[in-house]
Amino acid sequence: MEFFSLNGKQVSRIGLGTWAIGGGEWGAVSEDDAVATCRVIFDLGMNLIDVAPIYGHGRSEEIVGKAMREHGRREDFYIATKAGLEWNERGVFSNSEPARLRQEFEDSLRRLRTDYVDLYQIHWPDTTIPVERAAEVMRELLGAGRIRAVGVSNFSVAQMEAFAAIAPVHSNQPPYNIFEREIDVEILPYCERRGIAVLTYSSLCRSLLAGRLTAETPIPEGDIRRLDPKFQQPRFGQYLRAVAGLDAFAQKQFGKRVVHLAVRWILDRPGISAALWGAKRPAQLDAVKEILGWKLDAEAMAEVDRIVTEYVTDPVGPEYLTPGVRS
Ligand code: NAP
Repeated sequence: MEFFSLNGKQVSRIGLGTWAIGGGEWGAVSEDDAVATCRVIFDLGMNLIDVAPIYGHGRSEEIVGKAMREHGRREDFYIATKAGLEWNERGVFSNSEPARLRQEFEDSLRRLRTDYVDLYQIHWPDTTIPVERAAEVMRELLGAGRIRAVGVSNFSVAQMEAFAAIAPVHSNQPPYNIFEREIDVEILPYCERRGIAVLTYSSLCRSLLAGRLTAETPIPEGDIRRLDPKFQQPRFGQYLRAVAGLDAFAQKQFGKRVVHLAVRWILDRPGISAALWGAKRPAQLDAVKEILGWKLDAEAMAEVDRIVTEYVTDPVGPEYLTPGVRS
């Protein structure tokens, strides 16, 4: 495994993303599979698990808590959880009111069955109040030793700057994958300059880059990908043709598959610390072994760009994931 340093801790450059194991928007996952997925990371040399209260409305944190208890050694895990999203019958909204953040923190500790969080992240900026309000709570938790590092997610450069005036920003978690590179323009160079670790989400573009989907693959009712404009025809066809092109290139050039290329591509981009890999069962992480021991050079990076440009003529970003603004 490759590692990076996050506020003095060694963290694996591939992390398990646990949104899907909470069920809900990704279909049912059995508790045994979910817990086993969190525990298999050690067989692969990983220690990073990303989670959040919103995932399965608390369920993913409970699963991670159960896995830590079964494993027995809390300190083996590097747990990155989040705060700042509320959900109700009307939808999902950013909410970084300090009282809410403090309550969320206690709720997360209870679900995770731990007394500290390795990396605590503000999930989405709350644009109804200054980001400094959230930063004050994070500074307080860090100062008290209840969290070991502070992160943000989905923040702009201006929001990170304002936050950093109050509390350290050790990490940022934006979307990033071969098809979604909006952060290349401003956010990634900023983080690199400031020494802010970058943990990327949707590394497999919500399974598109895993290579198992075809135009005929059924996407069940209620699955988050039904809302994703990439998964709607005719655009879906463009993305699938690009995936086929990338898979052919990965096989010919490296003897690998598109899922391996997708994650290696992220790790070889300048300024990236770790790629989060959403998995529902241990077997989905088998492919992690194939990511290590090779690299994409400039020529390979250029070929990936060429394939994407050739097939994806009507690209769209991950904006549909943006939560609502509370009133
Ligand atoms: P992703 O990693 O892009 O894709 C995950 C999906 O790909 C899995 O649920 C699985 O779906 C499929 N998959 C995984 N491994 C596979 C394999 N070996 N073969 C075939 N299919 C495979 O998904 P993501 O959930 O968007 O991102 C990963 C993590 O990032 C999340 O779990 C979460 O921790 C984090 N995240 C954070 C934010 C944020 O706002 N901060 C937003 C989104 C996600 P199927 O089996 O259904 O195909």
